Amino acid sequence: MSDRPVILSTDRLSRVYADGNVQALHEATIEVARGEYLAVMGPSGSGKSTLLNLLGALDTPTGGAVYFEGRNYGDLPSLDRFRAHELGFVFQSFHLLPTLTAAENVQIPLFESSHRAAARAARAAELLELVGMIHRAGHLPNQLSVGERQRVAVARALANRPAILLADEPTGNLDSRTAAHVLDLFDHLHRAQSMTIILVTHGDDVAARAERVIHLRDGRVWNGQTCEGPRE
Ligand code: ADP
Ligand code: MG
Repeated sequence: MSDRPVILSTDRLSRVYADGNVQALHEATIEVARGEYLAVMGPSGSGKSTLLNLLGALDTPTGGAVYFEGRNYGDLPSLDRFRAHELGFVFQSFHLLPTLTAAENVQIPLFESSHRAAARAARAAELLELVGMIHRAGHLPNQLSVGERQRVAVARALANRPAILLADEPTGNLDSRTAAHVLDLFDHLHRAQSMTIILVTHGDDVAARAERVIHLRDGRVWNGQTCEGPRE
């Protein structure tokens, strides 16, 4: 990762949920290089989703900061714009809109920008082709298998050509064969498009797909022996 510029970094990033006074993330300092495929691993409740939501500007830290290419999220003119242009999200439950076809779901992020209908449709077709779902373009989500739904969700996440793909347990609802398809797709995006991918998982086999793994324990980055950062 040394020769690649840092795209995303955090400095002593912390999140306390007032509700229940939970310290979900404690002074996590990480760096992600442009084009890197990073897995964030840890048991349930270790703070993985909390970290991913902060990286995705879906949540605000209670301490520390997140930087995109050295710029503090807090200094960006619009986090909504930043999120829409630079980030793609894939979640465990796919969040497809039930009344829209696969092709229409993929186009959702494009409605934010000034794309014409024909350009939107062409982009959706290109992405459905990429994820191997073009033959189901006109299907509604409930006419698709769960693995197919996740592939459509990945296509949607890529619609705006994001710099970074953030995935939270993207294979958590999939059987192992279907999961492998989705992970193959991530491998392809990483190799062929140099996509920066941050993949949250509690599974060793899933994390093994990434170039590098960071471990969380009780909200702290864990290096195998000690938690990094000061202890209380
Ligand atoms: P993981 O994704 O690794 O399972 P989370 O980041 O979801 O872990 O949660 C970390 C800790 O924060 C857990 O103890 C969880 O119960 C708590 N937590 C998560 N979200 C909230 C919330 N909105 N309010 C209060 N506590 C929360
Ligand atoms: Mg989680």
